[in-house]
Amino acid sequence: MDKGLVFNIQRYSIHDGGGIRTIIFLKGCPLACPWCSNPESRKGVQPGSWQKNGRKETIGEWYDVDTLVDEAMKDEIFYRTSGGGVTLSGGEVLMQADFAAKLLEELHELGIHTAIETTGCFPVERLSKLLSHLNQILFDLKIMDEGTSKRVIGADVTTVKENFEAALAAEGVEVIPRIPLIPSYTDSRNNLLSIIQYLKQQGVSAVHLLPFHQYGSNKYDYLGWNYEMKDTPVLSKREISTIKALFESEGINASVDGLE
Ligand code: SF4
Repeated sequence: MDKGLVFNIQRYSIHDGGGIRTIIFLKGCPLACPWCSNPESRKGVQPGSWQKNGRKETIGEWYDVDTLVDEAMKDEIFYRTSGGGVTLSGGEVLMQADFAAKLLEELHELGIHTAIETTGCFPVERLSKLLSHLNQILFDLKIMDEGTSKRVIGADVTTVKENFEAALAAEGVEVIPRIPLIPSYTDSRNNLLSIIQYLKQQGVSAVHLLPFHQYGSNKYDYLGWNYEMKDTPVLSKREISTIKALFESEGINASVDGLE
């Protein structure tokens, strides 16, 4: 695949990896999380459309690697002075694994810190294409019960674990588990304890917690889709602190991140 389908490029981000970063969002996601804040990324790797402010807009644009590298390198000075770099996000980056591998390879050769965000939901052999070009993987762990995960978001927990363990085994790649805290979906004590137990088995001692937010809700209107979480309140500071304390009581350092 010579070109990659990108639905957003966000510059000067201070989320999704260290320092100041450019986030390149690749279209396509195999999951259907009810809380998704990037619903325009969902479905296959093909352009979509939505109706925004009365006008039809295309979602997704095909880019070649060199164009994206040039775009990202415009902010090289910020990466170098802040310890930042480039993060590929989605959607699910590994739906465009060959393109992502080429892009990361070129950035890495230019000395840019590279990261991906991933759901871990893809055939395990795909990850190996990227590992040697990566500094960091932000790895989402959402619902650990196999049946619930499959039913609610369409994620196969066995595959997620296989990919997580392959990421941990890679040399020179920092793996940061990220736990979205979604009311009624991921924030139950049972689910969080399952995540904690799994991370302890894997020898992981730090996570990022991503509290639920409503920032993507207007996108559902643009798409003409129902957003079932529009009336769900965000977690209170106290609820977030309680969850953070739960991880820390089990010896896992938990920092609270910005956006999921
Ligand atoms: S994995 Fe991310 S992009 Fe895909 S549906 Fe879930 S929240 Fe949305």
